[in-house]
Amino acid sequence: MAAEHHQVVIVGAGIAGVGLGVRLLEAGIDDFVICERNQSVGGTWFEHTYPGCACDIPTHLYSYSFARNPDWTRLFPRQREILDYVRKTADARGVTPHIRFACEMEHSAWDEAAGLWRVRTTAGELTCDLLVSAIGATAEPDEPDIPGLDEFAGHRFHSARWDHDHDLDGERVAVIGTGPAAAQFVPRIQPRVRELVVFQRTAPWVIPHPDRPVSWAERRLYKLLPQAQDVQRNALFALYEGVGMGFRGRTAVMAPIEALGRAHLRRQVRDRALREALTPRYRFGCKRPILSNDYYPALAADNARVVTDPIASVDGAAVVTDDGGRHEVDTIISAIGYRYSRSLLVERITGMAGRTLGDTWDRSPRAYLGSSVPGFPNMFILLGPNSIGINSVIFSLESQIKYVMDALRVMRREGVRRLEVRPEALKSYIGEVDDASAGTVWTAGGCDSYYLDDSGRQFAIYPGFAAGYRRRTRRFDAAAYELAS
Ligand SMILES: Cc1cc2nc3c(=O)[nH]c(=O)nc-3n(C[C@H](O)[C@H](O)[C@H](O)COP(=O)(O)OP(=O)(O)OC[C@H]3O[C@@H](n4cnc5c(N)ncnc54)[C@H](O)[C@@H]3O)c2cc1C
Repeated sequence: MAAEHHQVVIVGAGIAGVGLGVRLLEAGIDDFVICERNQSVGGTWFEHTYPGCACDIPTHLYSYSFARNPDWTRLFPRQREILDYVRKTADARGVTPHIRFACEMEHSAWDEAAGLWRVRTTAGELTCDLLVSAIGATAEPDEPDIPGLDEFAGHRFHSARWDHDHDLDGERVAVIGTGPAAAQFVPRIQPRVRELVVFQRTAPWVIPHPDRPVSWAERRLYKLLPQAQDVQRNALFALYEGVGMGFRGRTAVMAPIEALGRAHLRRQVRDRALREALTPRYRFGCKRPILSNDYYPALAADNARVVTDPIASVDGAAVVTDDGGRHEVDTIISAIGYRYSRSLLVERITGMAGRTLGDTWDRSPRAYLGSSVPGFPNMFILLGPNSIGINSVIFSLESQIKYVMDALRVMRREGVRRLEVRPEALKSYIGEVDDASAGTVWTAGGCDSYYLDDSGRQFAIYPGFAAGYRRRTRRFDAAAYELAS
């Protein structure tokens, strides 16, 4: 049977895939399919259901520019509310009928002779003129590489796949990792468990969380005067751009934030030894910082312990540390995050000459403007390497979506059937990004973070202003591409 053909196939129905779907429909392009492995839209916000899961970017900023929501109930949105927002947007904008659920992209290969992508999914074969990866940066949770972990005698799960059927009440629980997810669920589980052992490799920066409910009067105001919400959005955007300057080495911006973090720790943790263990030893921003008012108090509780000795192995029901300590637990929760450079994307997409993205990237993901890769014609990656700004991810995504939409316009206008970014355009872009990354908190901040790929290169963040990235992606720059009709 011939594969079904579409102009565009999007892989992933998270915020990115739905956002692109909206823009395609607005442009009158309805020959597209979104292939989503889950049974729902929402991506991150559908999959992550751990207690306390919430966004650390304020709602006014963490929303689509084209879908204002005057009804947000909190300053910082919680998982369920974001999921509902994405679902509502997909329904209201007519995107939902274009989504194939339980449709996992297993492999996509560029067919040079036919000039199209062949996409194999769990729901059948598709072909398309343009393939867009919207699989996000966190599709696959990373597991810690600990000898014996697979044979752990108790129960074990990753925070990204929270096991709601497992009752933690009265248990001895180990948490491996102290990133933003752990900081959100640890305060929720600490009062319920008998004993909590948090294994910390690096102490994170934690600053006070300004979250609060949005009052009825405010919501009413946003409904009557939507511009009031825009003013807040713009002010927050400017604030994050300012913080970004600090991340790029402006000590005058960083010093007060770090002082705030240290004061927060002093105020919330009385025990000297614990305070010492929780003191960050790198510049603020080198790893994703944490906003929390209850993380430190949870760690300081009588039933909690922070272990800083590296984990050597898991033996039976015990987590064994390098100093010989044995920590007997009932459940282990891994919360060490994700590995983009080892994601599904790299194994599942094959471009020219049978080379996969993984072969091309070789441990170091690189894409022009975070979106296109030589050897992979007619393909764009949303939230690709070096595209995340120090701002709302949705702003970066919308910049990339504009770029893809403009590429489609150029294709249609000029009768272009094949476009492939030139290697020299990528090289010069990467040179620029690397230069801009030098001396920033991400490369010189004194930590080892997921912003660094397996080769040690900063590959995640766009190291300039988010507004600058928006300017660069406003128009599809055809000169950087080889175009063929
Ligand atoms: C726990 C957590 C907390 C976060 N908190 C914040 C925050 O506070 N602030 C912030 O700005 N960002 C945060 N992020 C980042 C967040 O992922 C982005 O803000 C945003 O949700 C990314 O949207 P996306 O659509 O690009 O990707 P995703 O939300 O990851 O969606 C990708 C979609 O692709 C689908 N998919 C993947 N592989 C395939 C395949 N092979 N076939 C078919 N479908 C596939 C997935 O099922 C998923 O639905 C957080 C991420 C996580 C994991």
